Amino acid sequence: MQIVLASRNAHKKAELQALLSEFLPDIRVLSLDDVGITEEIVEDGSTFEENALIKARAAARSGYIGVGDDSGLTVEALNGEPGIYSARYAETKGYKDSHNDRLNNAVLLDMLKNNPDRKARFVCCIACVFPGRESEPVCVRGTCDGVILEELRGDSGFGYDPLFYIPSLGRTFAQLSPEEKNKISHRGRAVRAFALALKQRIEEDHGGVNQ
Ligand code: IMP
Repeated sequence: MQIVLASRNAHKKAELQALLSEFLPDIRVLSLDDVGITEEIVEDGSTFEENALIKARAAARSGYIGVGDDSGLTVEALNGEPGIYSARYAETKGYKDSHNDRLNNAVLLDMLKNNPDRKARFVCCIACVFPGRESEPVCVRGTCDGVILEELRGDSGFGYDPLFYIPSLGRTFAQLSPEEKNKISHRGRAVRAFALALKQRIEEDHGGVNQ
């Protein structure tokens, strides 16, 4: 069984392949480049779910099962910002340098300056569209709760990892190994939920995963 991930990122493809293989040994993850989809996908949804679905639908135009994901950080005191704009938060505040983690973190710290309410949640949504059954997608959501520190801590990971602190672990995401992060992260949780949901759907449709 082959599925197409709506991404051109080889790392994301390998990561999904490894995580899904634990649950679905016969699955093969392809990227947009693998199936010759060159068009740019316009992510103009207003929620993580909508954006994941837009990507999954685009990937399903390949004729294979299409998978799309969208993730980001939501901060309670900022009414959910940066949210779906997490990758380019600074740009939404007037900075020119888009997709810059260091700048995004600086902007987030500035937005929360002197604010004692530091509650935050990472969210990851994964959507899956079956060709010919576009109106019945599989959608799952994984979350991870934490708080935003007042300064960066740790060197691993990417994005907002050095600011995202898990009180129960006493560490930020940037102080966890990839394995430790995967166990509790929004993405790890979403992928595990997705693997189970996909397996169930395939079994319902075909009575087995080896079709
Ligand atoms: P994507 O949808 O997975 O590409 O994530 C969009 C943006 O959300 C990233 O560019 C990061 O700014 C932020 N983000 C998502 N997941 C994480 C994470 O695990 N750690 C840190 N930042 C993240």
